[in-house]
Amino acid sequence: MSKQAIRRTKIIATLGPASESPEVLEKIIRAGTDVVRLNFSHGTADEHRARAELVRQIAARLNRHVAILADLQGPKIRIARFKDKRKIQLVEGQDFDLDIAFPADAGDETQVGCCYEDLPRDVKAEDTLLLNDGLIELKVKEVVGTRVKCVVTIPGVLSDHKGINKLGGGLSAPALTDKDKQDLLTAVSIGADYLAISFPRSKEDIVEARELLRQAGSDMGIVSKIERAEAILDGVIEGIIDESDVIMVARGDLGVEIGDAQLPHEQKRLIRLARMRNKVVITATQMMESMIENPQPTRAEVSDVANAVIDGTDAVMLSAETAAGKFPDRAVAAMARVCIEAEKYPRMRQSDHRMTEEFGKIDEAIAMSAMYIANRLKVRCIGALTETGSTPLWMSRISSGIPIFALTHHEKTCRKVTLYRGVYPISFNEKGISDHAVLNRAIAEEFLRRKLVTEDDMVILTKGDLTGHTGGTNALKIARIDDVLAAAPEPKA
Ligand code: PGA
Ligand code: MN
Repeated sequence: MSKQAIRRTKIIATLGPASESPEVLEKIIRAGTDVVRLNFSHGTADEHRARAELVRQIAARLNRHVAILADLQGPKIRIARFKDKRKIQLVEGQDFDLDIAFPADAGDETQVGCCYEDLPRDVKAEDTLLLNDGLIELKVKEVVGTRVKCVVTIPGVLSDHKGINKLGGGLSAPALTDKDKQDLLTAVSIGADYLAISFPRSKEDIVEARELLRQAGSDMGIVSKIERAEAILDGVIEGIIDESDVIMVARGDLGVEIGDAQLPHEQKRLIRLARMRNKVVITATQMMESMIENPQPTRAEVSDVANAVIDGTDAVMLSAETAAGKFPDRAVAAMARVCIEAEKYPRMRQSDHRMTEEFGKIDEAIAMSAMYIANRLKVRCIGALTETGSTPLWMSRISSGIPIFALTHHEKTCRKVTLYRGVYPISFNEKGISDHAVLNRAIAEEFLRRKLVTEDDMVILTKGDLTGHTGGTNALKIARIDDVLAAAPEPKA
C-alpha cells in the first residue's frame, strides 16, 4: 500500500453560489471534503434540497461518503439586502442607518433593512454594533421609531444578509426561531445527517431541538454552535456538550461576543472539553479567509488550521471560502495538505485520555483497549464493526496515528462517522456471517481489496458476539492479515 499518510482531520465545506455547479462541487468533493454544510441563513428550502441531491449524486458516483450538515440560522440579527445585490463601501465617519421597516431588497450607501423586529428595542445610543463578523463597526447615535441611526467607526465593504452583533452580547431571542423550526423539518425531509443549532444559550435549547427532531422521526446528530458569551460559562458549557453530539467553536460570532483575543485559549479549552466528554468538535470561521480572493492562504491561515489540528479538533470548516469565494476547491486542497502535515507533529499520536478513569460500558472498554494497544504495537489499522458508530467514536477520542475503519452496513452510520477524526467509513455487509473466523476473513479481504493493508500487516478488529445489535461490541482480535486469511476456509467462488 502507499506510504502516504491518510488525513485524519476532517474538512467541512459550506455550499453557496460559488459551489453551485456540478463541476465545481465535484472538484470540492474530490479535493477532500468530508462534510458539506447547507447554511440556512441563506437560500431557499428548494435550493438546499437541490444542493443535497447533487452532493449525493456526486458522492455516489465517486464512491465516497459525504455527510450533510444543515445549519439553522438561529436568532441572528442580520441586515436585509441591497438593491441589485450590490456590495456597498462604507466610509469611516459616514452615517448609516438600520431600519426594520425599510424594504428588504432596497439597501444603499446610507441605509439597509433588517428583519429582526426587536432591533430598535435591543439597542440604544452609544451601543457598538459589529457587522460581518466584526469587520465593520457602527456606533449607535439614536433610535427613532423603527430606525437605528448609526455612524461608521470602522469602514468596510458590506453585502446582503451580513450578520449584526452587539458588543458584549445581549441577544434576547431564544435559540430556535419559527424559521428554524420550519427549516428543521426541511433538514429532516432532505435527509441531512447533522443539524447545527445556532446561538444556543444553554442545554435547554439542545433538549428542545432534540425533541423536535424526535417528533419529526429523525435521529440526526446535533451540532451546538458555541457562539455566545453565556454559553461558555462554567457549568453551562458542560451541559451543552453533554446534550449535543458535536460542538462547533463558532469563532465568528463568539469572537465578537467575547473579544477576538480571548478566542485562541477558548478554542483550546472547548476542544479539550468536548473530547474529554467523548464528543466531536469542529473549528470554524475565517480559517482560509484570504482564499476568498486569492489562490493561496497566508502563513497566518496555514498556522491557524495547523494549530486547530494540534489542539485536537475533529474537523476544520470553510465558510465563504467555498460558498462565495473565487477558489473553492483550492481552499479545500490547501486545508487538506496543511492538516496532513500538522498531524505529523509527534504529540498528535500520543494520548493520556481517560487513562485513570473507569469505563462505564463493555464496548467503551473494548474501544479504549484497542487504542491503548494500537498506540503501542505496530498495527496497520483498526477495523471496528459497528451499528451506530459509537465504538469508533470512543476510539477516535484517543489521539493516535492509526486509522480506524468503521465497518457498517448502515449508510447513515457511514455518513455520520465522516466527521470523526481518524475514522473512515467502509460499507460492509456482515449480515448472514455467523462465524467469527469467516467474518474476520471477509474484513481482511475488504482491507486488501482497498489496498489498506498487505498480508504481513498486523491489524486490530473489534466486534460484537451478535452482530446487528446496537452497543454489542465485546470482542477484540489482534492478528496478522495472513493469519486471519489462513484461519478461515477460502470462500466458495
Ligand atoms: P455562522 O457560524 O457562519 O453561521 O455565522 C459560525 C461562526 O459564527 O463562527
Ligand atoms: Mn455564527
